[in-house]
Amino acid sequence: MSDGMTSQAQLPAFEVETLGESSGHCGCCGNESRRVWGMVHHQGGPTVAAYWMHWTAGHLSEPGANLDLVIGKWGDGTDAHDRVGVALVHRQLEDGTPSFMVVDADDRFSNVDLASTALKRRDVINTHLAEQVFSVVDAIYLQGSRFF
Ligand SMILES: [Zn+2]
Repeated sequence: MSDGMTSQAQLPAFEVETLGESSGHCGCCGNESRRVWGMVHHQGGPTVAAYWMHWTAGHLSEPGANLDLVIGKWGDGTDAHDRVGVALVHRQLEDGTPSFMVVDADDRFSNVDLASTALKRRDVINTHLAEQVFSVVDAIYLQGSRFF
């Protein structure tokens, strides 16, 4: 099951800014795990999202990598109520195709005070927000693909 494939042909309308990265070890297998975070901005315009990507070598097809987004309005006069948390899982399919699936955010944003609400899968799929989420995800994947 997959909600979105990256569209390599399109020029991204967003600019991805990496703010930091760290590494650790997976609790189950000891493989190296990596975390990368940053911001996504409209090309030459306002910020649209913050993201955190977390993955472990050897787990890219199953269970996959986590991509957490806080998406909405940023900047002066905005607060956590202007933004929502959306959680995705990235998987490398058998033929090498990357896919992203929206999952229930549950407690993935419990340590993040940037968003007042963490959305369930059903709150995102087939909404206008989903289009925006996948545009942002495309940009992160295309401009951040060196991370995988
Ligand atoms: Zn592991």
